[in-house]
Amino acid sequence: MSDTHADLPEPTVEATLPTIVELCKQRGIIFPSSEIYGGFRSTWDYGPLGVELKENVKRQWWRAMVQLRDDIVGLDASILMHPKVWEASGHLANFSDPLVECTRCHKRFRADHLEEAIAAGELASMVCPDCGGALSDPRNFNLMFKTHAGPVDDEGAVVWLRPETAQGMFVDFATIQRTSRKKVPFGIAQMGKSFRNEITPGNFVFRTREFEQMEMEFFVEPGTDEEWHQFWIDERRRWYEDLGIRSENIRVREHEADELSHYAKRTVDLEFYFPDPSMGWSELEGIANRTDFDLKAHEAASGQDLSYFDQAADRRYHPYVIEPAAGATRATLAFLYDAYRVEQAPDADGNLQERVVLKLDPRLAPYQVAVLPLSKKPELSEVSRRVFDLLKVDRMVEYDETQSIGRRYRRQDEIGTPACVTVDFETLEDSAVTVRDRDTMAQERVSIDRLPAYLDERLPRR
Ligand code: ATP
Repeated sequence: MSDTHADLPEPTVEATLPTIVELCKQRGIIFPSSEIYGGFRSTWDYGPLGVELKENVKRQWWRAMVQLRDDIVGLDASILMHPKVWEASGHLANFSDPLVECTRCHKRFRADHLEEAIAAGELASMVCPDCGGALSDPRNFNLMFKTHAGPVDDEGAVVWLRPETAQGMFVDFATIQRTSRKKVPFGIAQMGKSFRNEITPGNFVFRTREFEQMEMEFFVEPGTDEEWHQFWIDERRRWYEDLGIRSENIRVREHEADELSHYAKRTVDLEFYFPDPSMGWSELEGIANRTDFDLKAHEAASGQDLSYFDQAADRRYHPYVIEPAAGATRATLAFLYDAYRVEQAPDADGNLQERVVLKLDPRLAPYQVAVLPLSKKPELSEVSRRVFDLLKVDRMVEYDETQSIGRRYRRQDEIGTPACVTVDFETLEDSAVTVRDRDTMAQERVSIDRLPAYLDERLPRR
């Protein structure tokens, strides 16, 4: 693929995985699940800051896809669905990865990943990348998590955890079209957890067995599908860039014919540049033209009519589907990578010091404002509390009165808080506070009365 991208500017991501993992652990953004038991197989918990960041990513996606459009409606479908859904969708037959096992150290790998590593010159031949042992023949391993509904764990009770949110939109298509009275072209959007029993989870939250997706199925008239596909490729790229991903760190990669899923006419991936050797340019979001495969497959399996009647043209047809399928957890990781910067900044004495700053868009930052009383003196606490109460109704605000002010600024820079509001002894005289800008570090004196309006001008509501 590299030749088609030869003329693109060099990516500028500064962070590497160990830095991001360490920052996330230190600041309680994301850390191993069940850590007191030693963690559990690439599962991760989103702490106080992580849950805000991830929810902000999802909120911005919902805003762009649902709130700001009159042709897309939302859905929150059940994670457990009728087992026939996965038969009809092809997941039971096709949703598998080729698994190979090292005959010496018994580690398991995805055969397609090893082939990619050979093609990239990272691995010499099809042997175990860890110990050099011989590998077994590949066998297909279905990625769906299997469980049982109800008290009896026999075959009749088998259900699957959904491996994607998309199928909810297909099986509910007719009900949603009828009740929302939308006409084609229109879309259904859904965010939520998906589960895949990945053979090789890893790279922090890049690939996990439990993750969150943000998917939208856009139903269009056949014949208009190619144009709509391009529309959504451009639109989705714009979404990441609008939220701060630098354009040189994102690219569009066209799937080769032999890579296409069984249902797809054309698929592109939006890729982000993760500078770590095991990742490089990697998929953030897949945007597929799924044709009428899904609606027809569910119609055939359920016996229910899933066609659409176009009244104006007096014609019945099965819409084609354009699907931008993004990972909320994977996108959260990309936003962290892109925002991470190390700068030289003068300290109180004018000496240059290294400063780590997460330049997150204010719409994504866990906290938009930090209220920092200069000391813990009760008279300062009282007015600081009032400032906190004034601002908290519109934004996530952190109240922090521990440690020196310099260390508190550093902490807020590291977690990406766009504005720090410092309450000092002068505040008691002039009812004004100092507002410090995360990116420029410029400080401005603002009266408390004017503070909400001042912040409104600088920090977009989410
Ligand atoms: P990959 O090739 O990385 O396995 P995929 O092509 O199977 O991904 P899709 O089925 O297109 O992925 O899913 C849509 C999006 O969901 C992906 O672009 C990714 O952001 C996210 N996603 C998929 N699998 C995982 C996972 N195991 N962990 C985290 N995010 C995931």
